[in-house]
Amino acid sequence: MIKQKFSLHTHNNAFGIFDGKSSPEDMVRKAEELGLETLGISNHFIWHPNMQRAHDMFFVDYNKALDVFKRNIEIIKELRAKSKINILAGFEVDFFPSVEWRKGFERMLKELEYDYLIGSTHFMRTADESYLCNIYHMNELPQGTTFEQIDEYMKGYWENTIEAIKSGYFDFMAHLDYCTIFNLCTSEKWNEYKWRVIEALDKNHQAYELNTSGYRRIERPHPDYWMIEELNKRNVPILISDDAHVAEHLCNGFDKAESYLESINYTNRWTFNK
Ligand SMILES: [Zn+2]
Ligand SMILES: [Zn+2]
Repeated sequence: MIKQKFSLHTHNNAFGIFDGKSSPEDMVRKAEELGLETLGISNHFIWHPNMQRAHDMFFVDYNKALDVFKRNIEIIKELRAKSKINILAGFEVDFFPSVEWRKGFERMLKELEYDYLIGSTHFMRTADESYLCNIYHMNELPQGTTFEQIDEYMKGYWENTIEAIKSGYFDFMAHLDYCTIFNLCTSEKWNEYKWRVIEALDKNHQAYELNTSGYRRIERPHPDYWMIEELNKRNVPILISDDAHVAEHLCNGFDKAESYLESINYTNRWTFNK
């Protein structure tokens, strides 16, 4: 029996653009089978005027991005009309601190009928945002990129997360230490940034997820246990997410996550209420 009756961080393959492997319909069917009361669909919101295009769902062009995001919501509305459970429209947003990005983002939000926003970081970048690289596509870094440069770019990763928390745009933050799956920022020198993330979450009363996809890849959730335990001491609200990209991964690891949260007496659980 699944205790948390919702899953809000999920992906699908709408339009063959987004990076899920299952169709939106299959995701809903699986959520119904599992007995969830609410399924949130949160395909990626990745737009930046300086984006080096490496994937269909990374948008440089403002209008093209807005068009796809709008059509994504139309699909969700159709599913909502047909489904027995609540279907919510969300986005997993890659936040950037520059004024230019924020302006575009706010302008898009006015035109999108979303229910909630997840703040997320998948990019490393230069300080001025002139160069961005998705961590997943690190192999596309220009030849000759040095370790020192990668360290500089990773500072941009953490600044994105910290500034996203401070921005107040987001209902909750996703996989805070996502980069560690790629063996980035695993050494102690990065703890300074992880502590800043903890302090920003605390200060801004910002909810965050325990992301169970880590169990599949690095045998622990995101963020790492010690961060969750520090955040518990500060009573920061938490929810459990699967970050499912295929229907079979919906609610994966939820039982394990529940037992862990119970074992550390983490009681401040975030729920969607709007
Ligand atoms: Zn993500
Ligand atoms: Zn995700």
